[in-house]
Amino acid sequence: MKIGIVGLGLIGGSLGLDLKTRGHEILGVSRQETTCQIALEKNIVDYASTDLSLLAAAEIVIVCTPIGSIASIVARLVPYLSPDTIVTDVGSVKEPIVEACTPLWSNFLGGHPMAGNTDRGIHAAQTDLFTGAAYVFTPTATTPPVAVEKLEAIARALGMMTYVCSPEVHDRAVAWISHLPVIISTNLITSCLQERDSQVLELAQKLASSGFRDTSRVGGGNPELGMMMAKYNRQALLRSLAQYRHSLDEIITQIERENWDNLERVLETNQQARPKFLN
Ligand code: NAP
Repeated sequence: MKIGIVGLGLIGGSLGLDLKTRGHEILGVSRQETTCQIALEKNIVDYASTDLSLLAAAEIVIVCTPIGSIASIVARLVPYLSPDTIVTDVGSVKEPIVEACTPLWSNFLGGHPMAGNTDRGIHAAQTDLFTGAAYVFTPTATTPPVAVEKLEAIARALGMMTYVCSPEVHDRAVAWISHLPVIISTNLITSCLQERDSQVLELAQKLASSGFRDTSRVGGGNPELGMMMAKYNRQALLRSLAQYRHSLDEIITQIERENWDNLERVLETNQQARPKFLN
């Protein structure tokens, strides 16, 4: 199948690598000429250009650019597409993108591969990034079922588990497990930096090990991605943050009152609940 990818960064480049090894012909479009050259050299794509007209031959186009640019790219892409071409995106937020893109192209299906890391750009592209991860598709009442079937089949061929839900449900779910953690994690770093005693701060930085590496990882990653998540999933994120603040206040109260039994019960409940999020 001829598959077009717009935005040859971490996600677009990694998709190119894996789709190519599954036998697809990859037409890549990126903003910078140098990125296109690197994508060709690294065998991420078969053809590359900064011009969206390259995608006229594509049967499927996957838009892998930052969230805020996706709808305008779909609008600029439309004049080159044949009526059967399926257009999808990989944006981490779905409702505003699906609302903007569906009127532009009736064969549009929102998607979100739940894999990534804190790096960005073409040099971050890697093979097998998606193996074992979830891929969520968010059709509306007007999305052609064949678009869902074809994209689910491609995702499964990459070794991914597919899920289908509404854009709204997607955004509320990822607010809990992806966007809230980014904000909590970045705020952890902010809070540590408030330490006034430079000797304590320097020692803390030297002693930080796997626990801090795990808890600060998502908050110390791509700033543009974190900002876009908050901007485009604002309502759902604020809802999750309000609950987080409430839960944090409760824990502070337990510690202030030295209610160690209550605190231990909370920790036990969460120890049992955690695996349900990680299966
Ligand atoms: P990234 O590494 O920064 O890659 C985005 C690429 O898009 C850049 O390399 C840039 O290419 C290109 N680009 C930017 N504006 C463009 C434009 N107007 N036209 C064509 N290309 C353009 O970011 P990413 O992490 O892959 O994220 C891309 C999308 O994936 C986002 O929508 C994000 O929400 C979603 N996503 C990210 C993750 C994650 O963990 N990172 C996970 C799932 C989904 P040039 O080098 O040519 O400038």
